[in-house]
Amino acid sequence: MIADKLYQVHARIAAACRSAARPVESVTLLVVSKTLGADAVRAAVAAGEHRFGENYVQEGVDKIAALADLRSRIEWHLIGPLQSNKTRTVAESFDWVHSVDRLKTAQRLSEQRPAHLPPLQLCLQVNISGEMSKSGLAAAAVVGVAHAVAALPNVRLRGLMAIPEPAADPESQRRPHRALRELFEALNAQGLGLDTLSIGMSADLEAAIAEGATMVRIGSAIFGMRGGAAAPA
Ligand SMILES: *Cc1c(COP(=O)(O)O)cnc(C)c1O
Repeated sequence: MIADKLYQVHARIAAACRSAARPVESVTLLVVSKTLGADAVRAAVAAGEHRFGENYVQEGVDKIAALADLRSRIEWHLIGPLQSNKTRTVAESFDWVHSVDRLKTAQRLSEQRPAHLPPLQLCLQVNISGEMSKSGLAAAAVVGVAHAVAALPNVRLRGLMAIPEPAADPESQRRPHRALRELFEALNAQGLGLDTLSIGMSADLEAAIAEGATMVRIGSAIFGMRGGAAAPA
């Protein structure tokens, strides 16, 4: 079941890459396992997946512990909001954080990253649709923060992440993705050497890939809808 859904998602990614004249290897699938049990992650690992995204710090840490036997085969990504009082836990447990939205968070992660682990891989989350309610750095603040984060010792700035406002038609979906890509290109023109554009979810992965996504974060297209009576336990 999970293997079939994963196959379908990989087929969607491959088709989107073909339409965009991009090599299929240029897009990585991040399997979003929030709200799912360790068994679902195990099934996805058995089907060949190695990168998993979690939204909630404690849930993620518990799952990482439950899957300790697979630790060397899994890259764990935090994609949800990160409060200051949780940075130590995250620095000790995760491999990536996509949701850095202030310099202070990156500084704490760098200070708290244990010396025996490789640098924590970071993306800056950008509030690309400019919605008041969503987290993420204002686009105008990104350049300054990016240079400061890139200078920290125990983290490595890899790129940008966004969760655009949902839109139904492809052109409206592409607009915020394009804005994020332009910001990404502007940072690279300043020598930051970023390689990760973390955009695209179940509903808009084609639009994101058309605009240069390198990592798509997919949950419901693999595991079904979350919440409500039909949600997996
Ligand atoms: C849940 C979530 C996703 C996956 O969304 P789907 O629509 O289920 O694919 C991606 N990114 C973030 C930050 C999420 O919280």
